[in-house]
Amino acid sequence: MDTRRDRSANALCIAKIKLSTTEDTEDAEEIIGFAQCPPCPLWWSASFWNALIRLPIVLLTIAASAACSPKAEAPAPAATASRWPAATLVDLSHDYSDQTVFWPTAEAFKLEKVADGITPQGYYYAANNFSTSEHGGTHIDAPVHFAKGHWSVDQIPLEKLTGNAVVVDVTAKCADQPDYRVTTEDFTAWEQVNGQIPADTIVLIRTGYSKYWPDAARYLGTAERGDAAVAKLHVP
Ligand SMILES: [Zn+2]
Repeated sequence: MDTRRDRSANALCIAKIKLSTTEDTEDAEEIIGFAQCPPCPLWWSASFWNALIRLPIVLLTIAASAACSPKAEAPAPAATASRWPAATLVDLSHDYSDQTVFWPTAEAFKLEKVADGITPQGYYYAANNFSTSEHGGTHIDAPVHFAKGHWSVDQIPLEKLTGNAVVVDVTAKCADQPDYRVTTEDFTAWEQVNGQIPADTIVLIRTGYSKYWPDAARYLGTAERGDAAVAKLHVP
């Protein structure tokens, strides 16, 4: 897992996300494709996006604690550990690269090689610089993105970002409606089949659009860049 955090940021860009979900990793992978959210303004408040980021951190913390800490010092792991029986880490992200899909007016991801080779001192050294706009690729939208004074990424409590999850599949609707917006009925229909979604459950929405990544023309409706391209966007 490789994450980069800006403490004042309203989004967190991630080179790699390791995520544990239910056994249905195929579903989750599709969802993350949707979470490459150029249309992120629609989803800023969805805490489940946040969960996609923080979950692996917590899991790794739990694992590290179990492996390295004396039992007497373990910080009451029972309640948390029981939430993740037989957890599996799954990479749901797309790599950041010059192919990463961004909002047409957002700065693209840039990678600058600083070093990659044997130093004069005789050891190998590799390092890069990178830059990217916040809202492209696999990333998290914090509440402050559209709510002044509310949480930035670093302020979101970890407890808000972990938990059991359900998958609401709207792939069929998105297949012939590239501008589809998820409705309340999508959730109530899910509940009619599967039962009521418990409080504090993370809700993942599967659009199926990850299959288009990184084809911006298919994923966004246009591969054009700049202000004029915004009107040409068609994405669930
Ligand atoms: Zn965003």
